[in-house]
Amino acid sequence: MKIDFDKNSDGLVPAIIQDAKTKKVLMLGYMNQEAFDKTQELQKVTFFSRSKQRLWTKGEESGHFLELVDLKIDCDFDTILVRANPKGPTCHTGTDTCWFEENKQDFGFLSELEEIIASRKENKEDEKSYVASLFRKGINKIAQKVGEEAVETVIEAKDENDDLFLNESADLLFHLLILLKAKGFGLNDVVKVLESRH
Ligand code: AMP
Ligand code: ZN
Ligand code: ZN
Ligand code: ZN
Repeated sequence: MKIDFDKNSDGLVPAIIQDAKTKKVLMLGYMNQEAFDKTQELQKVTFFSRSKQRLWTKGEESGHFLELVDLKIDCDFDTILVRANPKGPTCHTGTDTCWFEENKQDFGFLSELEEIIASRKENKEDEKSYVASLFRKGINKIAQKVGEEAVETVIEAKDENDDLFLNESADLLFHLLILLKAKGFGLNDVVKVLESRH
């Protein structure tokens, strides 16, 4: 792999560390040729620490190693993308990432939706909210709604109308998210099961 270690006079190249699974950016460090080689030799992410002025294998004291998955160089050979599996919180402050984030899988808009659903469960008494009203009625009623939406999805699947089919699929997914939340779970729990079968 060609890397332009001479671009900076100190021979250091930034290395972005990304969780191979969740895709969250965990931290940023710097590598020289030696650190880069050591990373591959140990299969653990190793930096050149500017404060320590020596090679530093992340986790050498804490045990929170970053186990190497793969390395990629960017378009102009001056930034390394390192995908790794963290063996604990990556930041020395104890948080998962150096930007004080939780290292959990992000399902984009579905995650936003899950957060809204969670807040409705917290505020069940909200009279204007449909989702809150479902939480008030309880798990059986929510499960029944999932059943209805599933049947509607099946019916529309037999039809030619794509729009109706997609709308019923959306209803089904939405109500399933509510049912999962009512039972104390989330999409990530279902994804874990799917992954374990893979
Ligand atoms: P560790 O490599 O996890 O054993 O941490 C050893 C030391 O490196 C810590 O006490 C911090 O001073 C520093 N350190 C650890 N993690 C980070 C990080 N994510 N960013 C900057 N410095 C760190
Ligand atoms: Zn670049
Ligand atoms: Zn940090
Ligand atoms: Zn429907």
